[in-house]
Amino acid sequence: MTLPALLHPFARPAAPAESFLRIVRAQGAALWDDRGRRYVDAMASLWYCAAGHGRTPIIEAVTRQMQKLDAFHLFDRFTNDPADHLAERVAALAPVDGARVMFTSGGSEAVDTAIKLARFSFFAAGQKQRTLIVSRTPSYHGVTYGGLTATGLPPNQEGFGPLVPDVVQVPKDDLAALDAVLARDGHRVAAILAEPVIGSPGVYPPAPGYLQALRERCDRVGALLVTDEVITGFGRLGTWFGAERYQVRPDLITFAKAITSGYVPLGGVVVGRAVRAPLEADGALILRHGVTYSGHPTACAAGLANLDLLESEGLLARGQAAGKRLADGLRSLVDGARVLEVRGEGAMWALGLAPGTDAVKVRDRLLDEGVIARPIGPATLAFCPPFVIEDVDVDRIVDGVRAALPEKHG
Ligand code: PLP
Repeated sequence: MTLPALLHPFARPAAPAESFLRIVRAQGAALWDDRGRRYVDAMASLWYCAAGHGRTPIIEAVTRQMQKLDAFHLFDRFTNDPADHLAERVAALAPVDGARVMFTSGGSEAVDTAIKLARFSFFAAGQKQRTLIVSRTPSYHGVTYGGLTATGLPPNQEGFGPLVPDVVQVPKDDLAALDAVLARDGHRVAAILAEPVIGSPGVYPPAPGYLQALRERCDRVGALLVTDEVITGFGRLGTWFGAERYQVRPDLITFAKAITSGYVPLGGVVVGRAVRAPLEADGALILRHGVTYSGHPTACAAGLANLDLLESEGLLARGQAAGKRLADGLRSLVDGARVLEVRGEGAMWALGLAPGTDAVKVRDRLLDEGVIARPIGPATLAFCPPFVIEDVDVDRIVDGVRAALPEKHG
């Protein structure tokens, strides 16, 4: 048994080299391993490959950009065309008043950026007491200390020492719990942070009216609303951002993943007028925040080409059609014994298996059927296919799950 030099994320450090599946090639919604086995990529890799794999326009745009200007930073006085153009494009798509965009390298940094901007904006406005961040359980907001602290998944936080102060959590959809926090601490709240559809902890759409109620609470106590759209951004729910689907206008939106369909890492934050205004009011104020790769021209070129593809090929609508076919297929597996429910919205779905079912084992059997899904939370299997997935592959996912479920007893 040998351990690889590569230490894998969210994996057992003791896992031997032989236990990994070596993915060597991808096209559309299909992947191949080093033994030539084909798999349906039922998770769009890790919720990100919206446009599908191997798309020539993105590859060519990245190549062209690399040949012209591979990389140069944005700190202080520097800018570049792809970053400017992508910011304009994202600002125009976002359901946010007076939007500007700050780029990061990924989703966790985007969440930390949103938390810091919310606090700093109030600081600049003279409301220095507004440092409290309210997030929910369950939720996933990443792995950096800000995002990890906001994450409502205790196992992810265990053992990592003291987290960030002034972050509190309330159960999802529980407005009474939120109101109790606001009654006590409303004057201290900088932001309420919520995924439109909770993703990694198990795929939970919001209760009807819940996100609008968050907006109303923010307006009432003078706090900012942040939607974490690292998964829902760029069409997963059929609208460019999930907030739009639920008819709310946040002050900040975090995004990553499908902005480039994952071809090059990129994340960012849409920054609305309420957040911007105090930062722009003092011409001498310097925003001492930003990451080395913020606005990386090659990543932004990938983003522009990806958005072109999503738009020109009508992929948002196609993703929704695929999501509906998938949801219908998954619902046919609900038997009240092994599969209890199907949860989701748009093109992100989960099967709720009977308590005690080992979702990892089901995933492993599903690999043998040529489908890659993701076991998340207790007894949950998630699906989030590329928008370009063909019906035959959607059906392969459903047939594969049917075959991979444990034997029916009784
Ligand atoms: N926020 C949400 C809602 C996510 O789903 C994720 C990742 O899945 C993150 C933040 C963290 O993003 P990253 O893994 O790119 O740091």
